[in-house]
Amino acid sequence: MASDLINLMNLSPKELGEFFVSIGEKSFRSQQILRWIYQFGVTDFDEMTNLRKDLRAKLKELCVIKAPEIVTEQQAMDGTTKWALDIGDGQLVETVLIPEDDRNTLCISTQVGCPVKCSFCRTGAQGFNRNLTVSEIIGQVFRAATRVGFSQNQEQKPISNVVMMGMGEPLLNLANVTKVCELLLSDYSFALSKRRVTVSTSGVAPVLDKVAGKLDVALALSLHAPNDELRNELVPLNQKYPIAQVLDSVRNYLDKSNANCGRVTIEYVLLDHVNDSTEQAQELVKLLRTIPCKVNLIPFNEHEGSGYKKPSNSRIDRFYKVLFDAGFTVIKRTTRGDEISAACGQLAGQVKDKLAKQKIEAKVN
Ligand code: SAH
Ligand code: SF4
Repeated sequence: MASDLINLMNLSPKELGEFFVSIGEKSFRSQQILRWIYQFGVTDFDEMTNLRKDLRAKLKELCVIKAPEIVTEQQAMDGTTKWALDIGDGQLVETVLIPEDDRNTLCISTQVGCPVKCSFCRTGAQGFNRNLTVSEIIGQVFRAATRVGFSQNQEQKPISNVVMMGMGEPLLNLANVTKVCELLLSDYSFALSKRRVTVSTSGVAPVLDKVAGKLDVALALSLHAPNDELRNELVPLNQKYPIAQVLDSVRNYLDKSNANCGRVTIEYVLLDHVNDSTEQAQELVKLLRTIPCKVNLIPFNEHEGSGYKKPSNSRIDRFYKVLFDAGFTVIKRTTRGDEISAACGQLAGQVKDKLAKQKIEAKVN
């Protein structure tokens, strides 16, 4: 039965090596398979010409190579592209490609919905459904590559950066996210530099402590407030792990990392008259004085059902200036893919819409 077959896309490079040993093969076969899948985009064992015929037959009997299918593709005027992938049970997961002059960044999802439920985030408002599997996460990169190209040892990688800033909290799906990072970094797979893979977290302090020195990729912390009182409201997880504890964990992570060049990216969503005053900017300066960081200011992306507003440009500029004048590296993030709702915090698997569609189709048939 199809469900008994092992999906090789669920395995990390190490697990793939162990799988080959378990079927009486040398572990280096894993390198060949990884290259076929993630560098050439080949999923049909018959096309894997450097594998013996009998091995190909054995693999066909035992395994599949399966990524979720693309169900919709939307492209914005600025080239930003959003794909929805079908992960079964009427659920969709979204992934976004953001092309820039010198890079192509893919923003991937790690969970369906999110249990952290930040007050301003559309994904959070959906509630939490489940963790994505390895094949469902790396499958997003694979599917994007089927559109923009696989590396095939090209100098310029078609997907040069991957950020886990789509749906979900990556550190609450640690086992799978770790394997995905291994696949993104492996020389036989996507071969990305560890500086070009970013895990963005709302601040799960104990998990950060656990992975420090083990998971070495770029780190972004979603801070959004200069004090616990406000952060408790915006990021409910703060009630469990307050700012001081999270910043300690971040420092510890940075100390043990090569990927971050000693600096964390602080993300700060600017919400009109909530966290964007001059006084709050000054408080943020004080808070971050001892944290090696760069600050990303993200003007709130408005979405239906949210009471928050994006601040005026003059408020954004004033906030920016306080940080800049205090000597911080500060970046004002521009919104990409606005008209296709592809910006930060706007992703949501349109489960209801799809189920509704199926019902309509069922009626028609
Ligand atoms: N859960 C992780 C990663 C996914 S969210 C995290 O929170 O870091 C990625 C980023 O988008 C976070 O910084 C998040 O706060 C931000 N974000 C969420 N909703 C947003 C919105 N409506 N407008 C702008 N940024 C938003
Ligand atoms: Fe989850 Fe991140 Fe959205 Fe918060 S901002 S609800 S942590 S996805």
